[in-house]
Amino acid sequence: KVRVRFAPSPTGPLHLGGVRTALYDYLFAKNQGGEFVLRIEDTDTARYVEGAEEYIEEALEWCGIIADESPKKGGKFAPYRQSERRDIYDKYTEQILKTDYAYIAFDTPEELDAIRSEFEAKNEVFSYDNKTRNRLKNSLTLSEEEVQKLLNEKKPYVVRFKMPVDRTLNLEDIIRGKSSVNTNTLDDKVLVKNDGMPTYHFANIIDDHEMEISHVIRGEEWLPSLGLHTLLYEAMGWEAPQFAHLSLILKPDVSTLIDKDNIDSITKSFTEEFVAKNDQFSFDESAALIKSFFSEVKSPRFKSMLAENEKDNPLTASVKQFLKKGLSGKLSKRDGDKFGFPVFPLNFTDPATGNISKGYRESGYLPEAFINMVSLLGWSPANDREILSLDEMAKEFDLYKVHKAGARFSKEKSEWFNHQYIQKKSNDELLTILRNSDLSLNISDDKLLKIIHLMKERTTFPIEIYENGKFFFEAPKYYDEKASKKAWNESTSEILNNLILKLNGTDFNAESLKQSVHDFAEEKGLGMGKIMMPLRLSLVGELKGPDVPDILEILEKEESISRINKAIQ
Ligand code: GLU
Repeated sequence: KVRVRFAPSPTGPLHLGGVRTALYDYLFAKNQGGEFVLRIEDTDTARYVEGAEEYIEEALEWCGIIADESPKKGGKFAPYRQSERRDIYDKYTEQILKTDYAYIAFDTPEELDAIRSEFEAKNEVFSYDNKTRNRLKNSLTLSEEEVQKLLNEKKPYVVRFKMPVDRTLNLEDIIRGKSSVNTNTLDDKVLVKNDGMPTYHFANIIDDHEMEISHVIRGEEWLPSLGLHTLLYEAMGWEAPQFAHLSLILKPDVSTLIDKDNIDSITKSFTEEFVAKNDQFSFDESAALIKSFFSEVKSPRFKSMLAENEKDNPLTASVKQFLKKGLSGKLSKRDGDKFGFPVFPLNFTDPATGNISKGYRESGYLPEAFINMVSLLGWSPANDREILSLDEMAKEFDLYKVHKAGARFSKEKSEWFNHQYIQKKSNDELLTILRNSDLSLNISDDKLLKIIHLMKERTTFPIEIYENGKFFFEAPKYYDEKASKKAWNESTSEILNNLILKLNGTDFNAESLKQSVHDFAEEKGLGMGKIMMPLRLSLVGELKGPDVPDILEILEKEESISRINKAIQ
């Protein structure tokens, strides 16, 4: 039976990479007719963040990724929170200590620091492993009596994994294929901390075993732990699940992110970070240089500008190095704030700073669009289809076809998906979204539906229906200067005055209005532009928006004529 788990640690909000892991976990489980489990890995109390678990649950729910078993829902293998599974771990700690795969270590932090400095003095890096463990204070080097004595004295200790000497481990990964690692490159990881709580590695394999997990699908950052985990299964005498490690999500192409409207704010946040790390340089000087690079970001020479040049002065060299690093590689949680796009599913308020990072939900993304975009970060369905519902994804998902290369995130593509999904929504659904938003729209449902119908095609985010259609909700406060120059001349007032007379006798539906304006143009021998442009300007304040007769119909007679009158004065 296929059983897959998503096992986040509540150390902060879920970000894009986490959502993708959860989604692929879910899709694979559903594709195989299996179960999807949510397990909270909260044994590291030092990194615990208040509210993170709730955030993760709410975010997954918003995405539609619903677990079959979870802390909230319970299930056959409850509890699903590691902090509540202590007695299970205690039992297995005893078990592993009876094997030759683990030992007790009494070294104090001070003693370990002292050894570390010794190594540093020789320009070497200390690691607690099969080469050093025989010099340290543990149950492998102390006599049984000494160990017992220390235990009786309640000396703090940890349980460490005893990494075998010089064994080649053959590892297998569904996405990456075969690889091997020699145990001499691995250290004796702590399995149980001195407070008796297991570390991630130990609790993780115990729970995957206990919860009958068949496939572990997780981020690439856990690949280095695969050797240890494989040996832990061996030590416990358990069959290991199959593993699939998902590659990184890469930063978006920076040239698509910086434009003249945001260059100053992006420069500012990069400069702040730069001078925080390089305090020998002044803010202003650094900012000027960073901005000069960013203003070339769309030019083909941008990359070569950042390339090394030995003649650079120290500031230029440091800035180049900083930018090269900051603009490539893994999509980081901070990229969202820096560039102004969300990387979290929901708004996240950092408890330490109070800063709010924008979420997809609060930015006006539809969960279906968001999850569709995420699904394609590392996988492509047959025929390169792009628009898929969660159920369709689950039907098609193939873990063996997940890409080995990192997937590049694109802000534009996220927006494209949202636009597509907005088009799929009915006018009634969009009405509900607008009515449930923060906007208080003082207008009847009937009218709002008409506005939605007119504006939908050019809408990516629901709020744009209001923002781009503000003139439906309030009369223009001023007239765009450039538009006025274009639309208005000495004869305009008289034309519009006559037009008012005509409109007064017209039924205010788009069809009749269109006819009426046409007739008027003909009667007066005027080109349509001479009428439509000033008319649009009077109603909208600018020369944009949907067809004028449609606008007139929605505004209705009284309001339309009052706006034209106001423009004439
Ligand atoms: N608790 C780990 C994390 O937060 C889970 C890693 C795994 O899936 O094994 O990423």
